[in-house]
Amino acid sequence: MIKECSVCNGQVSYEAKVCPHCGHPNQYEWKPVSGFFAVVNTIIGMGLFIFIIFMIIFGVLF
Ligand SMILES: [Zn+2]
Repeated sequence: MIKECSVCNGQVSYEAKVCPHCGHPNQYEWKPVSGFFAVVNTIIGMGLFIFIIFMIIFGVLF
């Protein structure tokens, strides 16, 4: 997995801790993105979980 460095536009591996071209810390760049997706996944997951719980409750009642 290769991405572009936001500082020097060089190719940086996702696993690299720093950009090999300019030394810009790589991890801190995509952590907020993964955090954002984690929040979205949590919201979708919670919504699905509540939906499944409701389906089970209504499935049992009716
Ligand atoms: Zn760079």
